Amino acid sequence: MAFHTRTTGDQAALKPHTPTTTLRYAVIGNPVEHSRSPAIHQAFARQCGIALEYDKLLAPLDGFSATVDEFFSQGGKGLNVTVPFKEEAYNLTRGAQSRRAELAGAVNTLWKENGRLHGCNTDGVGLLSDLRRLGHDPQSRRVLLVGAGGAARGVLLPLLEAGCAQLHIVNRSVERAHRLLAEVQAQLPQYAARMSSGSLPDAGRAWDIVINATSGSLSGQAPALPEGLYANNALAYDMVYASEPTAFMLQARAAGAGQCADGLGMLVGQAAVSFEIWHGVMPQTEAVLAQLREALHAA
Ligand code: NDP
Repeated sequence: MAFHTRTTGDQAALKPHTPTTTLRYAVIGNPVEHSRSPAIHQAFARQCGIALEYDKLLAPLDGFSATVDEFFSQGGKGLNVTVPFKEEAYNLTRGAQSRRAELAGAVNTLWKENGRLHGCNTDGVGLLSDLRRLGHDPQSRRVLLVGAGGAARGVLLPLLEAGCAQLHIVNRSVERAHRLLAEVQAQLPQYAARMSSGSLPDAGRAWDIVINATSGSLSGQAPALPEGLYANNALAYDMVYASEPTAFMLQARAAGAGQCADGLGMLVGQAAVSFEIWHGVMPQTEAVLAQLREALHAA
């Protein structure tokens, strides 16, 4: 009998896998128990009248590739990838990736096409759809991106393609910001003139949109940004989400940002684009986001 790894509580458990015609999807990570992807995808599926299973799949830290192989060989249709495997998923799908995945150097959506594993990165378009939902289309706006890790890299192309007037990357380790800028400018020379990089204290003034792509809020830390950061009616957006305003959102509110938001809408937005890749239909996100927000408050 075949087995696949599913999480039950905090531990992975081997459960017998009964062959079924139901479409099977999962989010793969380590840890993965915290993931809200099953709730989001199940809500999208109900909305679109699609019958599917969506599980949490805990892969051993040294067993990502084997777990992916096992999932697809048992008839699985698609995987979302979360920490710490997005780069491994990128390496597994080289030569069969979207342009967004190539530039991001990370993959969060996997599926098979003609027997070959394919990958895309939907985080950036998820952010973009949420910025638009909030009434802050980046087109012609000056955007400050705080952070130079995987999440920052993943949103660069969609922000540039959306036509932002200027994109400045700042990071606590300034060298990392400069390195990211140089890489992206080399890959996207058509946008080079609109991009720059620097340190947190020299982040500049009067930005229309400030995006916090650092993980600081997870430990209650806001980045050390200067005064005068926000233009009139500017948006402060934290990719981290929580039941209460994050450390970055509190900092931004005190610094005069017109509107503050966390990254829950980005999470739902990236899931919607994964869903569209797998099922060919784009779900509505508003109601699902509202349910998720309610659940987050209740938890
Ligand atoms: P990485 O570990 O790759 O990068 C972390 C970044 O945070 C680095 O730029 C690091 O700076 C910076 N940082 C960490 N702590 C601080 C601090 N106290 N002050 C200033 N800068 C700090 O993480 P990712 O880029 O993958 O993820 C970043 C965040 O984005 C995560 O919290 C993740 O949860 C969130 N995210 C949310 C998504 C969503 O859908 N809402 C999707 C993807 C990510 P340095 O280089 O100097 O160490």
